Formats: sequence, C-alpha cells, structure tokens
Amino acid sequence: MRHMKNADVVIVGAGPTGLMLAGELSLAGVRPLVLERHPHRRDTPKAGGLGGQILELLRYRGLLERFQAACTGPVPAPRFPFGGVHLDFTRMADPPLHALPLPQQSLERLLDERAGELGVDVRRGHEVTGVSQDDTAVTVDVRGPDGPYQVNARYLVGCDGARSGIRDRAGIPFPGVTYPEVNRLAQVTLSDEVTVLDNGDLDVPGFGTVRAGFTRTDRGLLGVGSSPGARSVSLYTIEDESTEYDDDVPMTLTELQDSIHRVLGAHLPLAGSTRLSRFTFKAHQAERYRAGRILLAGDAAHLFPATGVALNAGLLDAVNLAWKLAAELHGRAPGGLLDTYHDERHLAGARTMLHTRAQVALRRGHDEAAEALREVFSELLADEQPLRRMGALVAGTDIRHPMPGSGHHPLAGTFAPDLTLHTDRGITGVAGLLHPARPVLLDLAGRADLREAARDWKDRVDIHTAKTDRRPADALLIRPDAHIAWAAPVDEPAGTAVPALREALSTWFGTP
Ligand SMILES: Cc1cc2nc3c(=O)[nH]c(=O)nc-3n(C[C@H](O)[C@H](O)[C@H](O)COP(=O)(O)OP(=O)(O)OC[C@H]3O[C@@H](n4cnc5c(N)ncnc54)[C@H](O)[C@@H]3O)c2cc1C
Repeated sequence: MRHMKNADVVIVGAGPTGLMLAGELSLAGVRPLVLERHPHRRDTPKAGGLGGQILELLRYRGLLERFQAACTGPVPAPRFPFGGVHLDFTRMADPPLHALPLPQQSLERLLDERAGELGVDVRRGHEVTGVSQDDTAVTVDVRGPDGPYQVNARYLVGCDGARSGIRDRAGIPFPGVTYPEVNRLAQVTLSDEVTVLDNGDLDVPGFGTVRAGFTRTDRGLLGVGSSPGARSVSLYTIEDESTEYDDDVPMTLTELQDSIHRVLGAHLPLAGSTRLSRFTFKAHQAERYRAGRILLAGDAAHLFPATGVALNAGLLDAVNLAWKLAAELHGRAPGGLLDTYHDERHLAGARTMLHTRAQVALRRGHDEAAEALREVFSELLADEQPLRRMGALVAGTDIRHPMPGSGHHPLAGTFAPDLTLHTDRGITGVAGLLHPARPVLLDLAGRADLREAARDWKDRVDIHTAKTDRRPADALLIRPDAHIAWAAPVDEPAGTAVPALREALSTWFGTP
C-alpha cells in the first residue's frame, strides 16, 4: 500500500512561477506543497533579467530592494529589443517599462529563500508522475528519493514549464506554432589569435574583419557585443533551423562555434565561455488555464515568440491566482472567483501574444519590404506617444480587467497607482499598504459611511484612511494583486456609494 499525504495545494515545479506562487499563497495563509523533480536548484543560464509590471508588484510587496541588491550590474536606462528594432526609453524621465539585470539563477535563489522564510515545503527530487481528479480532490502520484507515494490535494497548479505534463494530463489543448529559428547567446573569451580593434570590431585570422553589432548573412545573423581592449565579448547568432531543443539541455561551446561557422562561413577561435544559452521561439497558449481542480501558470500556460516577457507574465499569473485560490481554500470565495483567474490572465497572455507575434513579423523578414517595415516602425517609435504605448504593452500595464458591477470609474480594473498618502502615522504610499498581500479599502476623503460599510469584512479587508493631493477617488478597494476592484467617484453620495461598495466587497471577497 502506497504512503498517502494530504495537502491543500500541490504546486508542480519550483521554477520562478511555482516559487512565486508558493510565496504568495503563504502570505494568504495557505501552506502549499511544492514538488520539483530536480534534486537541486538548476544552474542552466536562462533569462538575464526581469522587466515589466512584476517589478512594481515586487515593490508593492516590499521585495524590490532585495532583488535590486542581487543584480549583476547597474540598472541601465531601459532599451528594450522589439523584433529587430529597439524601444529606446533612455531619454524619458519616467519610462513606461523598467528592467533589472537579474540572472534567472539569482531570481530563483531569491524566490526560493523567500519561500523558505515563509515556511513553504519545497521538496526537490520529487517528480510528479501521474494526476487524476474528481469533484472533491486531486490525486497526485509522486516518485521521491525514497520511492513512490501519493498526495491527496484539494487543488494542483502546474507550474511545470513549457513541456508541462500536467497540462497534458488535464487534457488542456496547447495550440500554436514553433518558428524554425534558433537563437544562441554567449559570453565568451576570445582566443589570442583574434584581435579586438579600437572600434570594437574583431580581426579574425583567415577571414578578416567581423563588425561589432549585427552582421546579417543569407544564412542568419551574428551579433557581436565587444569593447576595445576587452577579451570577453558577447556573441549572438540566429539561424533558421527546425530542431526541437529542450531548454534545460545546456548548449556547448562547440555548438556555438558551429553556429557561428554556418552564419559567417568562417571559424571564430574561442578560448572559453562564462555563459552559454540557446532559445527557440514558440507561440503557444493553453486554451484554458483551469480544468476543474487543476490550474496552469507560467510557461505551462503560455510560450511567447520574443524575449524579455515570459517571466513577467508567469510571475503575474502567480500573483493573480494565489489570493483567489486561498479564498477558495478558506471557504469564502464568492462563486466564480477562481474562474476570473483564467479570464484575466488568459486575456493578458493574449495581449503579450499579440505583440510578440508582431515582433516575429518585424524580426524574421530579410527582404526589402521587411527592411521598410522596420524603418517605418522605428520612425514611429521616435515619437513619445507611440513609444509610451508600446512600453505599456510590453510591460503588461495597459490591461484593464473587466470589473463586474464595479461602476464605471476609470481606475476600476487597473493597477493601483502608488499615491503618496498622508496618514496619522506619517507619509507612506499605496505600495506600503500591500506588503501583507491583503485586500485594502483606502478611504481618501474621510468617508466614515464607506468605512462603516466595510466593517463587516474587516477580518479579510484592511481599512486605511489617508489624504492625498488631487485625490482621484473618494475611496479605492484594492485587491491583493494591486488591482483596483472598485473606486468611489469624488463626492459620490452615500446612497449610491455604500451599496456599490458592499456589492464590490461581496463580488471579490465573499459574503461577510
Ligand atoms: C536561454 C533562455 C533565455 C531566456 N531569457 C528570458 C528573458 O530574458 N526574459 C524572460 O522573461 N524569460 C526568458 N526566458 C524564459 C524563462 O526562462 C521562462 O519563461 C521561465 O523559466 C518560466 O518559468 P516557469 O517557472 O513557468 O517554468 P520553468 O522555469 O520551466 O520551471 C518548471 C519547473 O517544473 C519542473 N517540473 C517539470 N515537470 C515536473 C514534474 N513532472 N514533477 C516535478 N517537477 C517538474 C522543472 O524541473 C522545472 O524546475 C528565457 C529562457 C531561455 C531558455
């Protein structure tokens, strides 16, 4: 007879999405069980940084400073690659998109440490081999270091990456395409025979000059990032190739050299490397993010055909899901709450799919028409308004969730702005109120009627009173994921504001 354990939630996969979800669930009072098949934290280099709205969310959790302290370099003025052109925010004082040079290994270490501090049970070396569900529970087959066992869980979240077995077992279709394009990225040391010229170009024996920057040939693209005198350079190749690579299988120096040889038609002598990575471009999105008691988040739910957006999307999935799942487990979720996870995050994924697919069209064209498209696009991006709009699209901040019954305040459904708040205890910001990841009713106009109306929910909603310059609303009801569920228009009479607030509280946080 197999050993059987019980858990409220099983998270499959201790990648960034699974670890973020574990931390958020813990803040909401749920102890998840995280099962990760690898015995140790992996050290395959993947993302070089983190960008978009998740940085603001980390700040709202009080975590951003810790993440910044682990960065590998100074935080650069953002210049974001977009399908062969660049979104250049360097001249903007308040860019719509921010990024941190935080390698994925450091990100995973930080999220793992945080999960540990919050008491999460992360079991490494435990592979999920089977999943089945009925109306009341999910049964999970696990192969652990001491043999097979089963876990009986109320919910299971597949954060098990691009090749998600959970997605397949839950019968969730994952339609999409894989582009026949392989990208290889490396930080290498050049062999002594190669000379770095004063302008950063490379003098390669038997070939001649390889320019710093991008060289397009009819076999692909070679990028060289070098600085005069430095023997360490970054190299980047893009080739049309249909091989299906597994992202967790590392690239070798020989594989990179072979790729450079194919693109350039010459051998570039290299002495060693400090980073080697390879990625392919797929455009897939799960048809549903939920099948009964099984949910998907992160790469298991979506794969985008451009760089720099996947972590933002996956971590924001986790933040959106955690408080809803916790409410379900605490038995106080209003009907349909958990389904709003699919509604909101599938829509967000579709927006990301839209602009990353557009990047494919911009990037992959090699003829004169494609050059013209890139040129026109670059011209548009020289103007501030379209640049801001593209920045918000990439950051994922242009999304306004539909808020049923919330009235029509323009702030409803948006990410709460970090207003400066004057309170009895001094000056703070909206960000400071969301560190505990609890819902907040923020009274900005001394509205005792609204505070009184929310008292019935005070076991689950924090009530704060503050003043702010040029208040955008009399009161804001903010969800744990920092989105505004409802806003009271300035000077709205109690006769309409109070019932509207009570309805919003019931819609999002259940009956008192
Ligand atoms: C070279 C490269 C560069 C990248 N650069 C960027 C970038 O600049 N910006 C960006 O945002 N993204 C980037 N990405 C994408 C980013 O790495 C992924 O989006 C991210 O890792 C997804 O996180 P995840 O937690 O959803 O899935 P994963 O990181 O894939 O984690 C899934 C985890 O589930 C575990 N698992 C799978 N099956 C089971 C099972 N049956 N039982 C138990 N455990 C299981 C796996 O071992 C793994 O640890 C890059 C990817 C690559 C390969």
